[in-house]
Amino acid sequence: MKNQSLVGCTKKEIEALLDWRDDASLRSKQMASQIYKRAQSEFSQMADLPAQLRQELEQRFLVSPLEVSRHVRSSDSVQKLLVHNGDGNAYECVLIPYPDRVSCCISSQVGCPMGCRFCATGLGGFDRNLEVSEIVGQYLKLQSLTPRRISHVVFMGMGEPLLNVKSVVASLKILHDEVGLSYRHLTVSTVGIVPAIYQLADLKLPIHLALSLHSPYDDVRQRLMPVNAKWNVAETVGAMKDYSKATGRKVTFEYLLIKGVTDTLDQAERIATLTRGFPCFVNLIPFNWVDTEQGFARPDRKSVNQFRAKLEQAGVNVTERMERGHDIAAACGQLAGQFKQTSRQKTLPQLA
Ligand code: SAH
Ligand code: SF4
Repeated sequence: MKNQSLVGCTKKEIEALLDWRDDASLRSKQMASQIYKRAQSEFSQMADLPAQLRQELEQRFLVSPLEVSRHVRSSDSVQKLLVHNGDGNAYECVLIPYPDRVSCCISSQVGCPMGCRFCATGLGGFDRNLEVSEIVGQYLKLQSLTPRRISHVVFMGMGEPLLNVKSVVASLKILHDEVGLSYRHLTVSTVGIVPAIYQLADLKLPIHLALSLHSPYDDVRQRLMPVNAKWNVAETVGAMKDYSKATGRKVTFEYLLIKGVTDTLDQAERIATLTRGFPCFVNLIPFNWVDTEQGFARPDRKSVNQFRAKLEQAGVNVTERMERGHDIAAACGQLAGQFKQTSRQKTLPQLA
């Protein structure tokens, strides 16, 4: 059996694991600080622990379960890791430095069962939920790549975080309590799992919630996102409104611009009506090309500007996703998709 990983444990849990020692309280504080504040991944490098304890720890535990199978850097200093923990299921996380802060994007599942038609992850199918150690482990692996502190985390990598609420919430708590990040800098993006939005609202964590809206019309949204058949636009936007009321937080609507599908100006007008009367903003995301076999294309700059102007005229707060890391396939699931394809090409038997 594999050793238990300490990443994913709270300080209290680490203390309980050291029950054979009298100094468990002191040592657990030092270890939590090494693991979460310094992103130290080797017991042997935890210089403030006695040498014998370091050896004992090495025999009993792992710091992190993650191994890196690919590490790519873009020309604009975005770095992406494809990680796994020995079971062959790879998932990805991305480090995104800005002049004033460093952000990262992490995965909550290996693959995704939601099947959105524009998404590389959705097209690749679903393997499993990630555990707390694997979610927090992505943050720490990325943190070990940079001397700057990663202050912002977005759950916009692979998977649907609200299908893995228990581990995602436990991870948010560790990122806040142990790593020391502000809840306000933690963003969970959801396709719109309505009961889980209410579940999250009940917890009243002051995190940032984003909904992938992508069209204000049920027929268009349904064509893009099968989830809409279960919870339609009105119910989903209603849940976001209730979430905002319950938590006092501004919410975000992510809006994917696909040429001729979601970028028509009547949709901008409809969004303005839908989002009126509660604190929110709309984040525009031009479609990142993925071969979806649906013929989806990215709108040109002029249409994006027109769409944006229409929203602004109607009084909507609009932002636009800053696009980074194009040359390393930084969009959701793209790298893992490439990885899967190459391994598939290698392993599939030749059909006669
Ligand atoms: N499952 C969650 C979070 C992961 S996806 C969700 O769907 O919200 C993170 C974001 O990337 C979502 O807004 C998703 O719609 C968007 N996305 C997926 N494929 C994309 C593509 N090809 N181009 C641009 N954005 C994409
Ligand atoms: Fe899953 Fe989000 Fe991709 Fe949809 S967009 S398939 S919910 S990861």
